[in-house]
Amino acid sequence: MVVYCPPPSKDIDLHARLDDALATILDLMTQRAARGHVANYIPPLATVDPTKFGIAVALNDGSLHVAGDADEPFSIQSISKVFSLTLALGLTGDALWQRVGREPSGNAFNSIVQLEHEQGIPRNPFINSGAIVVADILLSGRQPRETIGEILRFVRFLADDETISIDPAVASAERATGFRNEALANYMKSFNNLRNHPGPVLGVYYHHCAITMTCRQLACAGRFLASNGRNPLTGRPIVAPERARRINALMLTCGHYDGSGDFAFTVGLPSKSGVGGGILAIVPGTAAIAVWSPGLNTQGNSLLGIEALEILSRHMGWSVF
Ligand code: GLN
Repeated sequence: MVVYCPPPSKDIDLHARLDDALATILDLMTQRAARGHVANYIPPLATVDPTKFGIAVALNDGSLHVAGDADEPFSIQSISKVFSLTLALGLTGDALWQRVGREPSGNAFNSIVQLEHEQGIPRNPFINSGAIVVADILLSGRQPRETIGEILRFVRFLADDETISIDPAVASAERATGFRNEALANYMKSFNNLRNHPGPVLGVYYHHCAITMTCRQLACAGRFLASNGRNPLTGRPIVAPERARRINALMLTCGHYDGSGDFAFTVGLPSKSGVGGGILAIVPGTAAIAVWSPGLNTQGNSLLGIEALEILSRHMGWSVF
């Protein structure tokens, strides 16, 4: 059940209103008995405490508002696909779209079903097959270790935080259980849509999925998407405004897999989820939001994370529509 906060009053200052909303959301979410189910395909995710809840909002004015377990690191999983895509677009530009589509899949994140019909071209860069092609692009001409280091450095740079790291236990558990991702990679290789051998490509993919961040760090790393591709604190450009707009468009249409339409309907913000229970949502021109609640819905998206964003977007009047 969704309980909505009272509508915002125009005369209350934005920061106070936001703090008020976060306190209400934390209170509501802490009380929820139905919290979804934590991902159980690897032990490091299966053992995460489902009662955790954190949220952080980085406003473009440089302020940061947090509530709950906002400083506790979690596995960002598929949220990392936003950062790997951003880097890969920097390498290849629009040529990337010859190898990855830009349409919602309407299927599960690890589905193989469309690949045969569409000749090994994944529907979009946020389903696993699409992110594996992106990892292949990032790997070309480099060693896997260098590529993984480059992705991690980029995320640290975006968040302005050198402490962000990769959890090696998550990366090796992903590899040990990644039979379906291996199937996807091998299948795409058979269509010639991978330039490198699937093994090292998956090594890059598993490692970026294993990046560990807090809500605070993730909200900071997402700021460039809320401010026309610039770091709002320094004004320094990270990507061109048009590229930030396009990444946001893909997050809106494809960021929650087969739950993307419903998320656009209920929340209305570009956003990307991960099976670690995190969601990065962007309010273009205003803020980047990171929320974390480890329990997932049937589509592999954070159950309470979505509800928290629904309440926050209503309370603050934040939507791209
Ligand atoms: N590492 C996970 C996988 O490859 C990522 C999936 C996700 O977060 N949706 O299955």
